[in-house]
Amino acid sequence: MDYISTRDAQAAPVGFVDALLGGLAPDGGLYVPTAWPQLDMADLAGRPYAKAAEAVLSPFIGDAIEPAVLRRMLADTYAPPAFAHQSVAPLRQLGPDLWLMELFHGPTIAFKDVALQLLGRLFDHALAQRGARATILGATSGDTGSAAIEGCRGRSNIDVFILYPAGRVSEVQRRQMTTVDAPNVHAVAVQGTFDDCQALVKVAFADGAFRREQSLAAVNSINWARIAAQVVYYAAACAALRAPVRFAVPTGNFGNVLAGWVARRMGAPVAGLHIATNANDILARFFATGVMEAAPAVAATLSPSMDIQVSSNFERYLFEVLDRDARALAALMQQFRQNGRFAVGKDVMTRARADFAATRCDDADTLAAMRRCYAETGVVVDPHTAVGLSAAYAAQHEGPMVALACAHPAKFPDAAERALGLRPALPPHLADLLDRPERTETIPADLPAVQRFIRERTA
Ligand SMILES: *Cc1c(COP(=O)(O)O)cnc(C)c1O
Repeated sequence: MDYISTRDAQAAPVGFVDALLGGLAPDGGLYVPTAWPQLDMADLAGRPYAKAAEAVLSPFIGDAIEPAVLRRMLADTYAPPAFAHQSVAPLRQLGPDLWLMELFHGPTIAFKDVALQLLGRLFDHALAQRGARATILGATSGDTGSAAIEGCRGRSNIDVFILYPAGRVSEVQRRQMTTVDAPNVHAVAVQGTFDDCQALVKVAFADGAFRREQSLAAVNSINWARIAAQVVYYAAACAALRAPVRFAVPTGNFGNVLAGWVARRMGAPVAGLHIATNANDILARFFATGVMEAAPAVAATLSPSMDIQVSSNFERYLFEVLDRDARALAALMQQFRQNGRFAVGKDVMTRARADFAATRCDDADTLAAMRRCYAETGVVVDPHTAVGLSAAYAAQHEGPMVALACAHPAKFPDAAERALGLRPALPPHLADLLDRPERTETIPADLPAVQRFIRERTA
């Protein structure tokens, strides 16, 4: 399978490995496959997760990785110790036609593990094949950093540096990064905010000489392989429930819910996709008005992993709904950069509304959904899951509705305390997290400091 950029359909397509290692296309667009492979749903029913992953991912990878190697990699990824639960993404029934899909059985107890556990292995293998090394650099406000670190720890061809704002992540989130004892892992506290961290990563990538010298790479959610890996659990849920399924998806960067759309595009019987946003509601406003407009500032909510101003993966969907007109897409992105907004026509909105429904759930709705779920079923959900569940409760639907449980409730104990007056316990593999020794260094928020820090540790 080859990949093209959403912003330049004329450029020569690249293969899977280049899309994987490159992350962003050179023109600033996102990579998408040249065609959508079709799934044989009969092939998925009753199969172990790793087998379902092979069926979904093989066509995206093509001959870039030998089939036997890929099979071994998937068997290794979607099993203990990485995933404690046998079925990786178990469905838990909450009501007659309501299920939770638990995506938090990986090392960092959030759904990002499902893709990043595989990505670390894919990177390592691709780099080994090329006889190369890469330095993965990222910024985190919490969940992504630890999932990237766990995905990359101990891999021979990767060094990983994650910048986080000193004193501004929760203790659990910080410790998930700083207690990993692997020589290729560097959790770096930056004297600044998350925005400072993100800006530092951006300028480090923009420094061409540094980027080439370090073979800088990114594993953020615009990486195509992350989306592809997330398609698997949508298809697996459809196969397991043997019926057209609706999904309610707590949404930030639009990566997760886009994977649901891809599953449908590949032939999985997805009956509906409910985008659930918190108070950072750029998507809910877009679906209401047809205008994409960034809010003046990010609002801090009970679901911090969805506190974003712009949903970067939406570009991939927009490309499709514009019938893959890269020029029209690039023009909209240009408008957005210049004016912080763009509008699309009626026919585009008609098609978009047929693909997605969008709901905004503020903190009060989040707490109400946590309380309702607990009262009705005794199940404690995390505040991100609650945002999706709130949309699921509100939606009129027939047939199965699956709400994606994107994090374990113990990852956000303060929200559970506030909603339910209890603090959920960490799962066994993290039970001693608060006693493990931490390893971190603090640096000032400037580029030379970051570059020096990285160079000293990759020389
Ligand atoms: C990242 C994250 C989200 C948002 O997912 P997107 O793919 O960015 O839309 C939701 N919930 C949790 C717990 C997350 O970590």
